[in-house]
Amino acid sequence: MNIEEESIKKDFQIVLATKNLHKIREIKTILSELLPNLDVLSLLDFPDYTPVKETGKTFEENAILKAIDAAKVLNKWTLADDSGLVVPSLNGEPGVYSARYAGENATDKDNRAKLLSKLESLSEKERYAYFQCCMAIASPNGLKKCACSKVEGKLTLEERGGEGFGYDPIFIKHDYNQTFAELKEAIKNKISHRRKAIDKILATLENLNS
Ligand code: IMP
Repeated sequence: MNIEEESIKKDFQIVLATKNLHKIREIKTILSELLPNLDVLSLLDFPDYTPVKETGKTFEENAILKAIDAAKVLNKWTLADDSGLVVPSLNGEPGVYSARYAGENATDKDNRAKLLSKLESLSEKERYAYFQCCMAIASPNGLKKCACSKVEGKLTLEERGGEGFGYDPIFIKHDYNQTFAELKEAIKNKISHRRKAIDKILATLENLNS
């Protein structure tokens, strides 16, 4: 190994058990700041791997399912995110079905349109919602850690902003005036459900090789 290779050698490798480009971008950005020596791959680096079906009834169950399966099949340490938006006045919809709320092949826009049509008849109070994120870490031998976090806020009646993904254009966090899609990515990455869940598993990630 030459000097240049040695200087960029990372201490430990982990695979993000997702193909979602937005999640990959957010998680890689957050981890590169917190753990610059962690080498972060994703399922885009393993195109032959078929992700497990998300059959869990909770975010936690799905995060654990995804982390354990990818770790075992790829024989690598993995980190899985399962997340979504919960609207208690709509019986928890879209919840674990956030990604496929308007159907199996629905786009983010389709999902938002379905939710926006249901919000029309709700009062402002009933438009209370939260994002939840569960992060599970697994080694090829099984689950090591799972932690969940949420951010609370309210939903708007129309889309605002061009950043982010999913339900970002209609979600305003408590104490903020802008939707997640109007905030700069760097701000969202400091206050999001994903960031808070990563903070909870940071100690485990820091000690992967011990
Ligand atoms: P999963 O890939 O099954 O965890 O589904 C995640 C889905 O939840 C995404 O496709 C989005 O619809 C929604 N979601 C999760 N996190 C966010 C976020 O940070 N902003 C907006 N939507 C999100």
